[in-house]
Formats: sequence, structure tokens, C-alpha cells
Amino acid sequence: MQANTTTVDQGVAMQSNQPTPRPLRPANQKVVVGLSIDTLLEERWQKDRDLFKAAVEKLGASIEVQAANGDDAKQLSQAENLISQGVDVLVVVPHNAEVASAIVQKAHQSGIKVISYDRLIVNSDVDLYISFDNEKAGELQAKAIVSKVPKGNYVLIEGADTDNNAHMFKKGQMNILKPFVERGDITIVYDQATKEWKPANALANMELALRANRNNVQAVVAANDATAGGVIQALAAQSMAGKIPVSGQDAELAAAQRIVEGTQTMTVYKPIRKLAETAAELAVKMAKGENVHADKKVNNKKIDVPSILLDPIAVDRTNMDATIIADGFHTHEDVYRNV
Ligand code: BGC
Repeated sequence: MQANTTTVDQGVAMQSNQPTPRPLRPANQKVVVGLSIDTLLEERWQKDRDLFKAAVEKLGASIEVQAANGDDAKQLSQAENLISQGVDVLVVVPHNAEVASAIVQKAHQSGIKVISYDRLIVNSDVDLYISFDNEKAGELQAKAIVSKVPKGNYVLIEGADTDNNAHMFKKGQMNILKPFVERGDITIVYDQATKEWKPANALANMELALRANRNNVQAVVAANDATAGGVIQALAAQSMAGKIPVSGQDAELAAAQRIVEGTQTMTVYKPIRKLAETAAELAVKMAKGENVHADKKVNNKKIDVPSILLDPIAVDRTNMDATIIADGFHTHEDVYRNV
């Protein structure tokens, strides 16, 4: 156990912010893990679902999955269903960081602990947060872009305002960009959130950014691969694709292809298998009433949430093979299909 390890354990379950634990299942019964996921309409979340499900089942537990596809009311009612079906622990990828606190409340009323998966549920007594270091992900994005273009007009295409991660990515980006801005080397000429993380909204925002600046834009920091896709489409319409750097995140196949083709500069690869497997292990432990250890704490505006933050990895053309492909995240054949 590391020095700064936090222990979440049944022994402290009577504290006001902890649920009264529900009775444990007899040892001969499988524990049930509930997964309430914002959306399955994006490649990344399908992978998360598949890997998490496989990991839970490998640990001898059963799993119930519900996807809300971006609808807060639906996510709450699906979570309520999972709770009333009697899951032993609830794992939530919130669509809306604030609204999902209602899910935590409901679960706790039934003595069910909640793990915030990848995205933090804010203003809540959520029991555990497991994610990547999202501030670092933002730093990796900005670092890659300033190393190509240390001076000029920058456009920031951020993530959904409702997602705590989007704010963490921006924080990390600004850690890197701020000194350049203060020196007057970089001017942020456009900075906009992308509603629902949708590529079509990123495309529309990028079109506006280009129009407002008469195409006098030298670099784009895009929060993920989906938004980067929209950005690159807007750049292509102005014959600018591949001429200015664009960041991304998630190592989606389309993005990996754009990187080797030269229209996207980098992506942030987050080994989802590690996230899914760690979350599954902890969820099953919690479901069995066992102790769970987390080495960090992240404040969610209400409490310091015991947290595990994995390392994101910057990937460009030079280390594509050594990372994404070597890990089997995508095959060489798929990534290089068009080059
Ligand atoms: C995740 C990103 C993802 C985005 C859109 C964020 O919370 O961390 O990996 O691209 O949501 O789904």
C-alpha cells in the first residue's frame, strides 16, 4: 500500500456520505455489476463496454448494461432500473456530470456503492473515481501542437460543457498554452465548447472560426478525435487540411488513419483495457463488500473522491506502431489502409 493510499471500506460505511451497505450475497451466488453508460454511439464507449463486460465476467460476476445515448432522464431511469433489479454495485459513465449526482443518491438510498467511470460525477458522494489523468491528456495535446507551431493564431475546439473531463482537458491545455499567450507568441482567436461532443457541431464551430479569422489560423487544439474529424472536414473545405496541426484523443481508427495520412497531428491514446479491467476488479470487490484502495483524491466540489488515474500516452506518426498497433488496439493493416 502506498503512503498516500485512501481506503474505502465497509468499516467507514456509517459516515454520513457513505451508503448503509446492503446485505452481501451468499458466497454461492454471483455478484451483479450494473453499468450505466452515457452513450454507445461512439467507438470508444463500445470498446469500454466490451472490455468491461468481459473483465467482469472473467472475475465470475454478472453484468447488466444500460446505455442512455446522451439522454439524462433516460440515464437516471435506467440507473433506477438497475438499482431496483438489485445490482450489487453501480458503475456510471455520466452523460452530465452534475445531473448524474441524482443517480448516486438513489443508489446510496439502496445501499449500493457507485463508481464514476472515466468521467467524474460532481457534487455527489460518489464512492470511487477511476479514469485517466485528464489534465495530463490536455497537456499532451497542447504540447504536441506548440512543438509544431510555437507562434500564431490558435483555435480551441473543446468538449461538451456537461462533461467534467472537457474542463480537465482545457485546464491541461492552458497549463501549456498560457506562457505562450502571455508572451504574445500565441493568440487564441476562437475557443468554443462542442455541444454533446458531436463532430457536426465541431465542424460548424470550425467553419465559424475560419470565417471570423479569414482563414488566418495556424493551429487547432481539438479535444478528441470526434471533434478533430469535424475540424479537419472544415479545414479540407478550405484546402487547409494537413497544412496546420490538429490534436485529438481516443486513438479512434479514423484518427489513427488521419495521422498516418497527415491530416491530424496526434491523438491521445488511453489504454482502455487497463481502465476497464481495473474498474471491473474494483467493482467486483465492492460488490462483495471487500476493501478497495485508491492512491489519489480528486475533489468533486462536494468531497475528495478516492481516485485512480491512469496515464494517457501521446501518439503521432512516429510512435503509432510502438503504441496503438503494438498493443493490438488497432491492426497495422487497418491503420495504414489508405496510405
Ligand atoms: C472522454 C473522451 C471522449 C469524450 C466523448 C470524454 O469524457 O474522456 O475519451 O472522447 O468523453 O465521448
